[in-house]
Amino acid sequence: AKETHRNKIEFYVEGMSAALGSFVLLENDLRAAIEHDQLKLLYQPQFDLQTNSLVGMEALVRWQHPDRGMIAPENFIPLAEETGLIVELGDWVLRAACRQQKRWLEAGNYCQSVSVNLSPRQFRGDAFVQRLADILIEVELPARYLELEITESSVMEHAAESIHMMNELNGMGVSLAIDDFGTGYSSLSYLKRFPIQKLKIDRSFISDVATDQNDAAIAKSIINLAHNMALNVVAEGVENELQAEWLRDKGCDMAQGYLYSRPLSAQGVDEYLMAGEF
Ligand code: C2E
Ligand code: CA
Ligand code: CA
Ligand code: CA
Repeated sequence: AKETHRNKIEFYVEGMSAALGSFVLLENDLRAAIEHDQLKLLYQPQFDLQTNSLVGMEALVRWQHPDRGMIAPENFIPLAEETGLIVELGDWVLRAACRQQKRWLEAGNYCQSVSVNLSPRQFRGDAFVQRLADILIEVELPARYLELEITESSVMEHAAESIHMMNELNGMGVSLAIDDFGTGYSSLSYLKRFPIQKLKIDRSFISDVATDQNDAAIAKSIINLAHNMALNVVAEGVENELQAEWLRDKGCDMAQGYLYSRPLSAQGVDEYLMAGEF
């Protein structure tokens, strides 16, 4: 056990050295962060490419470390996954995002859904569906205002079990999106059995979509695949008009990215809405 522990610490030191110097994030720091309100959600708007209207918000977690400032999720989500803290962290994110969506609904800022990212391990926990149902009841948010983003790999690993859970979630009214589509080991035969509503085209295919023939071919295929399966399709990481124009032209339904907005605090979203920018 000692050996494993040491390896784990070394792994994180190496993985994070670029962003955090010699700082080592430890399990206890993360546990304290969850308990002491050091986590924060930002929201990135998603737009309908044809009507330019705001259709959703993706919740993205940050860690406001008292000494280290804002820490990006790729620097602590892996640690949370490894230690199992992801279950607690994930519940915190779900509750916070649902509460915020409830506030927006009550304020009349209609937005179809808030999307929450799920880690594989969080999704695998068998009590997940029940805990989510409890959160929705506690927050009094109708399930149709929540969307969950899951990756191909996380559902492929335990396909039968995952499909069962996805059906339960759909049954509750929660909608499901496959995140980073095209980067995992997709199996089209499984895709057909997943009860999902949306595919999100990974940013790596979007950055050069207007200029690179291969990226264009892949993005076009994903758009067509989604539509042939009666799914909505969202492009992630849209940074310029050229990409947006290309996607609109190919019939992509929605877009998300710096062209429209960086991830904003909830208050930032309110200010943006009031400024009439959406
Ligand atoms: P993701 O789900 O693919 O989220 C999109 C990431 O792309 C976000 O990074 C977002 O800030 C960034 N992004 C958005 N638009 C653009 C753009 O136009 N250009 C570029 N270059 N980047 C853009 P972020 O917030 O650092 O999140 C990184 C990843 O961390 C997410 O990738 C997701 O996998 C994970 N994550 C974030 N929040 C949560 C969470 O609450 N739970 C779990 N399990 N994972 C999360
Ligand atoms: Ca996502
Ligand atoms: Ca993504
Ligand atoms: Ca991604």
